[in-house]
Amino acid sequence: MAIFKKPAIKAEGGKKREIPRGLFQKCPGCSEVVPEIELAQNQRVCPRCDYHFAQPAKERIQNLLDSETFVEMDADLKSVDVLRFQGMVGYKDRLKKYQESTGLLDAAITGYGILDGYKVAIAVMDFGFLAATMGSVVGEKITRTIEYGTAHGCAVLIVAASGGARMYEGMLSLMQMAKTSGALAQHAQGRLPYISVLTNPTTAGVMASFASLGDVIIAEPKSMIGFAGPRVIKETTHQELPERFQTAEFLQEHGLIDTIVHRKKMREQISGLLSYFAVTP
Ligand SMILES: [Zn+2]
Repeated sequence: MAIFKKPAIKAEGGKKREIPRGLFQKCPGCSEVVPEIELAQNQRVCPRCDYHFAQPAKERIQNLLDSETFVEMDADLKSVDVLRFQGMVGYKDRLKKYQESTGLLDAAITGYGILDGYKVAIAVMDFGFLAATMGSVVGEKITRTIEYGTAHGCAVLIVAASGGARMYEGMLSLMQMAKTSGALAQHAQGRLPYISVLTNPTTAGVMASFASLGDVIIAEPKSMIGFAGPRVIKETTHQELPERFQTAEFLQEHGLIDTIVHRKKMREQISGLLSYFAVTP
C-alpha cells in the first residue's frame, strides 16, 4: 500500500524547529516545555516536576521579604578590571554585557528589610550575572551586609548561588573568601544568627567560605552543591563517586546541610527559624 511507502514528514529545510526565546523554557527536570508566564507566576519552579529554575535576585527578595520593606545598600559598587584581563572576551566587555542583560551592576543585591516581622540583613546572589562569581564587589557587598547585621543586632540571611571565585580578578577575588568569613566570625561573637540558603548551583570559593558557615544551612531541592566538580574529583582521587554525589539531598544525608526546603516554603521556614533564634522584631 502506497501510504506505507511515503517518506516521513520532515521539518522545513531539515532543521530542528526552534522555540522562540523568552516565551518558553525547556525544563531540565522533566524535559517539558513550560510557558515563561507560568514560571513567572510560580516563583520559577516547574509546575509539572518541581524543578527549581534560577531565580533573579530581585524576584527572590520580593518573595522573601514583607512588601516595600527592602532597602538596598551599596547599589552603585562596580567592579574594576584591575588585572586588565585579556582573553577571548576581556573582563570589561563581559561586565558590560552582563550589566546590560541583567540590569544589575554586579552579581549580588544586598541590603536590609523585614521578613515576616523580623529585621534581617540580606544578600542575594544572581546566577544570571557571570554565573554569580564572587569578585571584589560581590565580596565587599556581602561583607558590608554582614557588618550591617552585626552593628544593628539583626540576623543575616544570604541566598547563595555561584560558580565560585571570579577568575578575572585573581587573588582579589580569593581574598573575599577570608573577608566574608572574618565578618561572619565577628557576627557570631555578637551572638547573632546567620542563615545560609544554598541554591542551584553553589560551588567552589563561595561554598568554601560564607555559604557553608551558616548557623543553619538550608538548600533548595536537588541543588548542585560542592567545591570542585565531580569530574575533577574523579580524576584526582581515581575513585568512583557515589550516585547523587553533590546534590543537596546527598549532602543532607551526610550532615553538611540541615534541611531542604521548597522555594515556596522558604519564607515560612526562615520566619520560623528567626522566631526560634528570638531576634527581636
Ligand atoms: Zn519540569
